[in-house]
Amino acid sequence: MTRDGTAGGGRAARHPSQRRYIFVTGGVVSAIGKGVTAASIGRMVKSRGLRVSIMKLDPYINVDPGTMSPLEHGEVFVTVDGAETDQDLGHYERFVDESLTGASNLTTGAVYDRVITRERRGDFLGGTIQVIPHVTDEIKSRIRAVGDGDDPDVVIVEVGGTVGDIENIPFLEALRQLRREVGMRNVLFVHVTLVPRLGSTLELKTKPTQHSVRELRSIGIQPDVVVCRSDDRLTPELVDKIALFADVESRAVISNPEVASIYEVPLVLEEAGLGAFITEHLGLGELTPELDEWSATVDALLDPTVPELEIAIVGKYISLPDAYLSVVEAVRHAGIAWKVRPVIRWVDSEELEDRDPHDLLAGVAGIIVPGGFGPRGIEGKIMAAHYARTQKVPYLGLCLGMQVAVIEFVRQVLGTDDCTSIEFNPDTPHPAIHPMPEYYHVANKGGSMRLGAWRCDLVAGTQARRVYGAASIEERHRHRMEVNNNYRDILRSQGMTLSGLSPDGALVEIVELDHHPWFVGCQFHPEFASRPTRPHPLFWGFLEAAVRHVEGRSPVPESVPEVAG
Ligand code: GLN
Repeated sequence: MTRDGTAGGGRAARHPSQRRYIFVTGGVVSAIGKGVTAASIGRMVKSRGLRVSIMKLDPYINVDPGTMSPLEHGEVFVTVDGAETDQDLGHYERFVDESLTGASNLTTGAVYDRVITRERRGDFLGGTIQVIPHVTDEIKSRIRAVGDGDDPDVVIVEVGGTVGDIENIPFLEALRQLRREVGMRNVLFVHVTLVPRLGSTLELKTKPTQHSVRELRSIGIQPDVVVCRSDDRLTPELVDKIALFADVESRAVISNPEVASIYEVPLVLEEAGLGAFITEHLGLGELTPELDEWSATVDALLDPTVPELEIAIVGKYISLPDAYLSVVEAVRHAGIAWKVRPVIRWVDSEELEDRDPHDLLAGVAGIIVPGGFGPRGIEGKIMAAHYARTQKVPYLGLCLGMQVAVIEFVRQVLGTDDCTSIEFNPDTPHPAIHPMPEYYHVANKGGSMRLGAWRCDLVAGTQARRVYGAASIEERHRHRMEVNNNYRDILRSQGMTLSGLSPDGALVEIVELDHHPWFVGCQFHPEFASRPTRPHPLFWGFLEAAVRHVEGRSPVPESVPEVAG
């Protein structure tokens, strides 16, 4: 890959006329890394100079995951066009190094929403609306439309859940039909399963894989490839056994053993021959993969010069670290750039409220307060911002993390703890953070925040301008509140610079402290735009300051930051 996000390799990309599809299903249990497998396949295909698009089908009835608790479903990932999507889209963007749109995530709820809207409108002319063909037709048309503007050569579609679930049957049926419609040779089914180690002999067991392939076959889908997650590489005997029962070639049974980092997976699958099998099976010819930059990135990740650097993430969803998935990955990417291995210290913001902050925060190289909603644990987050400001610990505030930094600062200046956000106390006498009317007085909670990429102008001479190396940027948002402009003078007069503003000057997008090594808060979510090969500038600057904080020296960068488009 080159820095501009195009496939490297120094040869012209080959673009077949017929679009190919790779469908990724899962068996045995959920959470076995189907998303990482799909994302890795995306990287392997793109590394061959082909254009790739990638999509996730989610079986739940929510129209999108925007209204779901992060503790239920993990992080809500936001695309540039403002869709609130499944966290797997974050993996796709990080691995494939493409910015996706809302078209790359489709839930059962969104499918039914569309079919029922059309039925109410009378589009079906009195017909009886059924799962087959109306629901399956809608699914197929959405899959066919993915990445249309970019004219992808290969579209990868991951089906959420596990084969055998009631919920994903319409999706699987749609994929089965689509294979017939676009030509059997243009579709590859990849089934990801778990091969557990069980029993007194601690053997790897293939039976669950056999059963899940049988389940898939019972709905008319024969997999072409079986990717087996296990703690160790499968022996040739086990490979042959799975091949026999799944009725695939032995070279199509791919071992995907435990590795130190998810970013190794494309290299592991490539080495196991999956890339060559895919291109051969889909008739794409022999294309040499260009994975040198990816390998170098993985090497830097696995072999840092500063072994460990503790970064605190202060939040209320820490019982499910997936709730902050992109934040952790963005820290890791900046770690690659500075050759350090960041270790996350998870700090429960509610617990912080009853403790001396030193107990929970002493010794960390930097503090991140990520995004969030609702009053629970908010005072703990404000305490974390206070600690970072007064102890001169590097601080990065993301969305809510910026808002608490502003609240903490105003409290200090005015000498009162009454200052807060209207979100937490509608009657506060000092609403330093208040609603954006157009996103606050809304009847429907779903999809009604300020969402997606918005332009922001950076003020010369600020930290933000230095790390971005640009006067104007675009970043992804997801919020209803903003800095109350009546407090701008209080902030500025006491040393908080408003370093990023919306182009019309009306919205404060970035703040930073003047007399502090690194104290930056942003109203947007930079974590969504960070890639392993392109660390995000704000995480890059934050980690540079974190290394300096513990080591008393400026680190030498391995790579420079760049924002993904
Ligand atoms: N709850 C805050 C708002 O709506 C912050 C949102 C966030 O952190 N994503 O503005």
